[in-house]
Amino acid sequence: MFEYAPAPESRSVVEIASSYGLFIDGSFDGGKDGDVFKTVNPATEEVLAEVASAGPEDVDRAVAAARRAFGTWSALPGAERAKYLFRIARIIQERSRELAVLESLDNGKPIRESRDVDLPLVAAHFFYYAGWADKLGHAGFGPDPRPLGVAAQVIPWNFPLLMLAWKVAPALATGNTVVLKPAETTPLSALFFADVCRQAELPAGVVNIVTGAGDTGAYLVAHPDVDKVAFTGSTEVGREIARSVSGTGKRLTLELGGKAANIVFDDAPIDQAVEGIVNGIFFNQGHVCCAGSRLLVQESLFEPLMDSLKRRMATLRVGDPLDKNTDVGAINSAAQLTRIRELSEIGSVEGAERWSPECQLPDRGFWFAPTIFTGVTQAHRIAREEIFGPVLSVLTFRTPDEAVAKANNTPYGLSAGIWSEKGSRILAVADQLRAGVVWANTFNKFDPASPFGGYKESGYGREGGRHGLEAYLA
Ligand code: NAP
Ligand code: MG
Repeated sequence: MFEYAPAPESRSVVEIASSYGLFIDGSFDGGKDGDVFKTVNPATEEVLAEVASAGPEDVDRAVAAARRAFGTWSALPGAERAKYLFRIARIIQERSRELAVLESLDNGKPIRESRDVDLPLVAAHFFYYAGWADKLGHAGFGPDPRPLGVAAQVIPWNFPLLMLAWKVAPALATGNTVVLKPAETTPLSALFFADVCRQAELPAGVVNIVTGAGDTGAYLVAHPDVDKVAFTGSTEVGREIARSVSGTGKRLTLELGGKAANIVFDDAPIDQAVEGIVNGIFFNQGHVCCAGSRLLVQESLFEPLMDSLKRRMATLRVGDPLDKNTDVGAINSAAQLTRIRELSEIGSVEGAERWSPECQLPDRGFWFAPTIFTGVTQAHRIAREEIFGPVLSVLTFRTPDEAVAKANNTPYGLSAGIWSEKGSRILAVADQLRAGVVWANTFNKFDPASPFGGYKESGYGREGGRHGLEAYLA
């Protein structure tokens, strides 16, 4: 293997303030009770900034600001709202280097991913929904579809800015106003986005950002003056939110966890499949709701595929997220690292065989080597529970029917992958998979025009595409 010289992106391209307030009604202010929390760089454990924690009164103020702004925002012609969204999209493109570095610092993901995947998709999402804003009457929801009102949006830490874009762009395009709570460990890109809104001269109150922990999210979704709740996160919290919203008349969409099957048939091109498997589970440290965390391999291909996969895994570079050659960055938090470690221990205890390539992990920060488990059965917890880390469980199958049965044997249903040379087989298998997205001979491909969402415990509602408008229209 080649040794690469360090190639770090400069962190000085982005300015990080020592403290941040809440973004309410177009300006930043400290929380009512002065509570703050710290956000750290998970690669070094360095504190990046102190951030205000929003209490009930702050959430009240944010919802009131969104309510006030709703009247004028929803009354604007779609073409006028589009101008703001196009402006936001362009500013994001112009400032994408700053944003990519900030995202990698706060989240731990490799700069190669924040720069080449997250940021281009964020801008594309705003461009895409900007295009819909003046065409809502042609979207298939009646001649004059109306916005819902104030949208409460709560997002996770794995794709902080991208999840914000998925939520904010369709809400604004359809004439709703927004109060958004980013995750506690990754608030910085949302606060940067608040500044982008100011730069775009978005009217005050149309977008409000309230930072804080789970409590802040709970106040927000339970707020009586909210019309729509959009949540992305764990199935457990999604259930709580569904309970809190039920009977209130609020509209709800939930994008929750997953345990996707990545199915490799014996006629699949091995090298491409290996790239797809690696991308499926080691992209973004496996902190991906639609990660291909269960590899189902046709028995006759098992040995050659494992050999190739292990060879490929040995070339993955784990380390400094700001280094342009890094493939696998830091685990987002100590809590997430503990969870990954615990579930992996259980994998070994339950009898699966664990393997990782030799790799030197940095001394400070939160790290976990890319790991695969073979000899996994469907009863193992590592085959059933979402690990949300760089850990792959490998199972085998003999026939297409067995592959489908095993793939569907999960409480989740977010995504799946199929690798085969045969188009007819791909179509037949895809048809039987209970998953919102099925990739064929690729994995983790996203496009703003393509709807994304789950079945069963992976949630309901779709984000992206024309379908994504529906969640924000009466
Ligand atoms: P999480 O614990 O459910 O947190 C998600 C968000 O909800 C965070 O902002 C969190 O705040 C907040 N929250 C926590 N408790 C809350 C409550 N009682 N009421 C309202 N909000 C509350 O999930 P996570 O660990 O951050 O994210 C990982 C999960 O997200 C995984 O299961 C993953 O599969 C899922 N995910 C799904 C998709 C999808 O599109 N389907 C995309 C990405 C991630 P704190 O940050 O303070 O905890
Ligand atoms: Mg952080």
